[in-house]
Amino acid sequence: MADRIRLLTHAKLHYYSRLTQSNQNLMYPRFLTSLFLTAVSSSALLYLFGHQSIITPTIATLNWLAPLSLATAVAVSALFGHGKLVSIGMLLLIPALLPLVGFESALAFNYINQALLAVTALLWWKARGVNLLSMLTYGGVILVTFIAYSMLHPLWMQTIEPVVTPYWLKLYQLSPVVTETFSLLEFCVIALCLILLMLRIALRPGATTVVAGFTLATIVGLLVNEQHSSLLLVQTGLSIAIILAVIADTFHMAFRDDLTQLPSRRALNQTVLSLGRKYTVVMSDIDHFKKFNDTYGHDVGDQVLKLVASKLNRVQGGGKVFRYGGEEFTMLFAGKQAEQVEPFVESVRKTIEQYPIVLRGLDRPSKPPKKKTKPSKAKTVKITCSFGVAQRSSDEDFVSVMKRADEALYDAKKAGRNCVKCKPCKT
Ligand code: GH3
Ligand code: MG
Ligand code: MG
Repeated sequence: MADRIRLLTHAKLHYYSRLTQSNQNLMYPRFLTSLFLTAVSSSALLYLFGHQSIITPTIATLNWLAPLSLATAVAVSALFGHGKLVSIGMLLLIPALLPLVGFESALAFNYINQALLAVTALLWWKARGVNLLSMLTYGGVILVTFIAYSMLHPLWMQTIEPVVTPYWLKLYQLSPVVTETFSLLEFCVIALCLILLMLRIALRPGATTVVAGFTLATIVGLLVNEQHSSLLLVQTGLSIAIILAVIADTFHMAFRDDLTQLPSRRALNQTVLSLGRKYTVVMSDIDHFKKFNDTYGHDVGDQVLKLVASKLNRVQGGGKVFRYGGEEFTMLFAGKQAEQVEPFVESVRKTIEQYPIVLRGLDRPSKPPKKKTKPSKAKTVKITCSFGVAQRSSDEDFVSVMKRADEALYDAKKAGRNCVKCKPCKT
C-alpha cells in the first residue's frame, strides 16, 4: 500500500509556480537579461556603424568568418547536448555557406521571415538533447515552418493584406521610418515572434529563449541595414550568442540543484566569498525523513523535498536558501544578527508544520468518471523541520559558523525536533 500513494498534482503545480522565484536566488536571470541587452545594443550598434565606410568593406572581405563562427557554435552546442541550438546554428549556417559556393548572399535575405518563425517555433518544442531522433524532430519543425509559410503566403496576400493595409498606411503617417524599413509582412512576423518570445520568457526562460531574442533583435537590425556586411555581422553575432547561451546554461546547471531548483552547495560556497563581516547561518533538516521515505516511497519523498524547499525559499528577512545536501538546507542572512533572524525562521517552521500534504492512491482513474461518484478520501500527512541558528562572531570563519549552526540543529533534534535552536543561545 505504502508505495501506491502519491502526492496530489496540486502540490506539484504549487511547486512549479514557485520555480521562477527560486531561480531568483541565482545570478542566472541577471546573466540572461544582460545577454539580451547585449543583443539589443549590438543591433543598435550595427544600425549606427553599419553604414560606415571603414567597417563595411573590411567585413565584406571576411566571408569565411560567419560560417566558421557558426560552425563553432554548432560544435559547442552539440558538445553540451543542446539539440535546439544545434538546429538553430545549422539553420543559420546553411545560408552563411551559400556565398562560399557561389550563390548570392542576398538569397539569405529572402528567408528571414521563415528563419525567424522557425526559431520561434523551436522555442516551444521540448528539449531533447542531441541524437538522430531529436535532430530529425527539430529539422522537421523547421521544414514544416518553411512549407507552412510558403503555403500561407498566397492566402496572406489575397485575404489578410488588403484588410490590414489601411492600418499600415495610417502607421506610415505616424511613423514613416517603420513602414519604410519593414514590409507589412515582415512587421507582422516580427510582432508575432516578439509576442511569442515574451510569453516564453515569462513562462520558461532558457538558453534557446536568449538565442531567439538575439535572433529577433539582430534580424531587426539587419532589415534596417540590408547589406552583405551586416548579414555577416548578424551571423557572427548570433554564433557568439549561441556559445554564450550554452555557457550560461552550463553555469546555471552547475549552481542549481536539479530536484528542488534551489541554489546548490556549490552556489553556497560561491556566495560565502562575497559575504560581509556580519551574517547569520541557519541549518535546517527535515525530521524523520528516512521513516517518511520508508513509509511512502522515495518518489513521494522527492515531492515533499521540493515542497519543503519551496516553503523554505519563502523565508522573509532577506534570507537566501540553498540545498546543502540530502534533506538539509542552509539559509544565509547577510547583515543580520541571530535574534533578528529567529522570528523569520520560526515563521517558516510554522508554515511547514501546518501545511497539509495531500496524498492519493495510484489506483485513482486518470479520466474523471462519467457518473458523479463519491470522492475518494484523500490522505493528508504533515512534515516538520528542525532549525539551528548561529551568528558570526568577530574574526570567525564561515566553516566555524556553519559548525555552530549544525550543533544548534543537533540541539533542536535532541529537544524533540520541529523547533528552532540557537548557538550560543541567549535563552
Ligand atoms: P532526523 O529527524 O534525525 O533528521 O531523522 P532523518 O530520518 O531525517 O535523518 P537521516 O539522516 O537518518 O535520514 C535522512 C534521509 O533523507 C535518508 C534519505 O533516505 C533521505 N534523503 C536524502 N536525500 C534525499 C532525496 O534526494 N530524496 C529522498 N526522497 N530522500 C532523501
Ligand atoms: Mg539529515
Ligand atoms: Mg532529517
